[in-house]
This record gives sequence, structure tokens and C-alpha cells, in this order.
Amino acid sequence: MSLVQLKQISKNYQMGELSVQALKDIELEISEQSFVSFVGPSGSGKTTLLNLIGCLDKPSSGNVFVNGTLVNNFSNKTAAQFRGEHLGFIFQNFNLLPVLTAYENVEYPLIMVQNIPGAERKERIMHYLDAVGIADQKDKFPSQLSGGQKQRVAVARALVTDPKLVLADEPTANLDHASAFKIIELMRQMQRDFKTTFIFSTHDPKIVKEAEIIYTLEDGKIMDKEIVAA
Ligand code: ADP
Ligand code: MG
Repeated sequence: MSLVQLKQISKNYQMGELSVQALKDIELEISEQSFVSFVGPSGSGKTTLLNLIGCLDKPSSGNVFVNGTLVNNFSNKTAAQFRGEHLGFIFQNFNLLPVLTAYENVEYPLIMVQNIPGAERKERIMHYLDAVGIADQKDKFPSQLSGGQKQRVAVARALVTDPKLVLADEPTANLDHASAFKIIELMRQMQRDFKTTFIFSTHDPKIVKEAEIIYTLEDGKIMDKEIVAA
């Protein structure tokens, strides 16, 4: 079954008199348990595309289906609920809460979004901190962690709610090359272990070697689809 389906998607941004066409006639299907990359230069439409799939924005025309549900007519409240139940997010700037420890950052969505009771919560948090290799750093604050470690915490936080799909917008943009490769490898491992679908974007074509399917974007269009591995 396809987890994500985009049909005839266009997205325009109106800036005063000027209309910017960020996405043009996008047709896309992403199947369950896959590891997909959107590659393209700055301004090619990667973030716009991820935001539509992530129910953070709506297309100007066309339909977006996620997990078999038409999502582009959602109210803000329904979209937020849907994100909390089905989606995880990883950001370029890590977006960890600075006043919370690594453990508490991973705990946050279980309290705020899914309201998971105490004992199960603790078990889940430790399970994912362990899975991303950072259990021994659990009591540190983000300021005490390296970029790579922070992104590991963010990967654990994205997975702890057991989402179907994790969306990562340039997750390696603020990391050195070695750490960047390690984060992509970690996401790939998590995709295998937890059968979670990952879609990540990057402007760096060197970083995509782990992807199974690579979509190349240019000026709001998908210019190429490369299937690397099944
Ligand atoms: P990428 O993530 O690949 O850098 P984006 O999706 O951010 O690309 O942007 C695609 C195009 O849409 C760019 O031309 C950008 O300037 C424009 N754009 C993105 N967001 C907005 C916005 N909120 N308002 C106006 N134009 C936007
Ligand atoms: Mg972007």
C-alpha cells in the first residue's frame, strides 16, 4: 500500500503582486517502510513538499493522501491530531527544548501529544534512547551535546510516538560530514528496525547514498526518480 500519495499537486505563494510557484504538477507515491530522499538546490521546493506531506501546509490545487486519508481539507486541529498520531519530524536545527534534558526532550511528545502513562512512558523513552545510541547521555542538556548527539535525541523524539512516517527536512545541514553520514545511517537503521518510513531532504547529493529512492527536484518539479535499492 502506498503511504503517501500526491495527485496533481501545485503550490503557489502569493507575495503582494508576485506569485511564486513553489511546486508544479507533482505526482508522487511513496510506499510503506521505505527510505526516500528529496534532493535539490535551495529553492527547489523540498520544504514545501515535506510541509504538504506533513500536514503543515495545504496545496493550492491537487490532493494529498497520507496513510490512505485525504489530508488537505483538514482543519488545523484535525491536522495537529493527525500529526501527533501518525507523523514524526526531524529538523535542521534539531529543535530540542534547551531547558529539558535529552530524556525529557524525548518524553515531551508522550506527555503533550499522546498522553502515555508513566511506567510505559519510561520504558518507551529508554528503548528509543538506547536505539539511537544515546542512553548514557540521557541526563545532559542540549547545550552539553554535540550536533550529532542532538540530532540523535531528535531522532528518538520523532520515533517515540511510534509514527508511520518520519519527515526530516535537511536533518544533516548543520552537521559536519562524518556526523551527517552517521545520522543518515541511523535513520536507515531505524527504518529497518521499526519499519518506519523516512523521507528526508538534502541539498547535498553526496549524502543520499543510503536512500532507496531519490527524487531530484528543480524549480518545483520532480526532474528525476532514481531507485537505488529495493
Ligand atoms: P527548498 O526547501 O528546496 O529550499 P522551498 O520549498 O523552501 O525550497 O521553496 C520553494 C520556493 O518557494 C522558493 O522559490 C521559495 O522562495 C518559495 N517560498 C517558500 N516558502 C515561501 C513563503 N512562505 N512565501 C513565499 N515564497 C515562499
Ligand atoms: Mg528547505
